[in-house]
Amino acid sequence: MNKNELFRKIPKVDILLEDKEIIDLIESCSREIVMEAIRKESTKLRDFIKENDDLNLCETALQQLTSNIVKAASIAFVPNMVEVINATGTILHTNLGRAPISKRHMEQVSKIATKYSNLEYDLKAGGRGERYAHFEELLCEITGAEAAMAVNNNAAAVMLIMNAMGKDKEIIVSRGELVEVGGKFRIPDVMELSKAKLVEIGTTNKTHLSDYEDNINENTAALMKVHTSNYRILGFTHSVEVNELVEMAKTKDIPVIEDLGSGVLVDLSKFGLTYEPTVQSSVNAGVDVVCFSGDKLLGGPQAGIIVGKKKYIDLMKKNQLTRALRIDKFTAAALEAVLLDYKSLERAIENIPVLNMIATPLDELERKAGLLYQKMIDANMTDDLEIKVIDCESQIGGGSLPLERMDSKAIAIKPKNISTPEYEKAMRMVNTPIVARVTNDEVILDVRTLDEEQFDEIVDLLKGI
Ligand SMILES: *Cc1c(COP(=O)(O)O)cnc(C)c1O
Repeated sequence: MNKNELFRKIPKVDILLEDKEIIDLIESCSREIVMEAIRKESTKLRDFIKENDDLNLCETALQQLTSNIVKAASIAFVPNMVEVINATGTILHTNLGRAPISKRHMEQVSKIATKYSNLEYDLKAGGRGERYAHFEELLCEITGAEAAMAVNNNAAAVMLIMNAMGKDKEIIVSRGELVEVGGKFRIPDVMELSKAKLVEIGTTNKTHLSDYEDNINENTAALMKVHTSNYRILGFTHSVEVNELVEMAKTKDIPVIEDLGSGVLVDLSKFGLTYEPTVQSSVNAGVDVVCFSGDKLLGGPQAGIIVGKKKYIDLMKKNQLTRALRIDKFTAAALEAVLLDYKSLERAIENIPVLNMIATPLDELERKAGLLYQKMIDANMTDDLEIKVIDCESQIGGGSLPLERMDSKAIAIKPKNISTPEYEKAMRMVNTPIVARVTNDEVILDVRTLDEEQFDEIVDLLKGI
């Protein structure tokens, strides 16, 4: 057979459409998708024959046309965004979606999002309501603030606050706090967009109360503190505590703004971590406006939460930017559901995955690691892998508590037949990808961020490599 004959043997569309397999495919995938797959696969086949001189290979490709069409069409509706298994031990992994939300909280979101809701409807009054109404009181109750609202994320919150309070005026910030948070989000750049003028004071390592005081004038709109949550300057340093700053600002009748970044609502020192200033402590210190992320240590949906004095929050609710930055019903529903659990610390730790992972004690992690180890042994995985339980350290991530490490337990895997980097890559290519660290030429599965209910699945996935 020569090439011309091969080309002629490529079935025409109407012939393919009479094939039983293709008829069934149209039934399950729709005609448009199948037609598209036929076009794409036929072109691919034609190109293959054109470029290949091995006629046997071409003949094989020809025979595979129908099965390739079936393959192409059946993945048409498969989403690219998939669940991954986070074995890195980093609880707030920004690349992996930061805070996971519990199934129970998502059930509430699903209920609200799949039906109509009272998102902006006041049922009692029978008229227009506010989308913040569903969680404003809760936030006030939890943080002690007078008023609250939320926007798309904390970067948006910072921008809105600066615009609402400091447009065409000056906001004073310490040079030691002009941070880049990640993804090129820099406080000075945001301030420029907000049309507030940045007044930098102090030096990188030292800022004193007098630096703030000396720079206050009739154009000063606010003093701002930014929680440097993603790095730490050690050594010869000084920064002004919020209490001191608030006290001084009060005498000058100037508001204080604080970007807390992570926004912890519970005292993390309870779990052996370094004390991280809570939202409550800032509100309690008298900070006028505090903002923080919804999907960092709070453990909720992506959002920028703003709490503080009512007169400033009202100003922001009326600001034009608010409309562009507003949260949707998914976020409103998820925020309310997660915040409800903060009414009880015990409930919060049990029901909010981020807090639950932080609070898991070492002996529990040891039991978890032992269980996964045993399942791997029972599945005869030692034929191809060296497996052991090791000590490791998990981190919070998401730019929160950068120096903090939590003792944890992990499974260390060393493949016998392929290299460790190859094995790690293969783990990312399975049906439910497993993302893990490689340390000392071993793949490390930190059990802190693994769900015990997925252990059997993990073993099956690893067996398939
Ligand atoms: C993370 C962070 C932000 C940005 O928050 P997003 O919710 O990611 O937009 C802003 N400021 C600080 C101090 C942060 O740590």
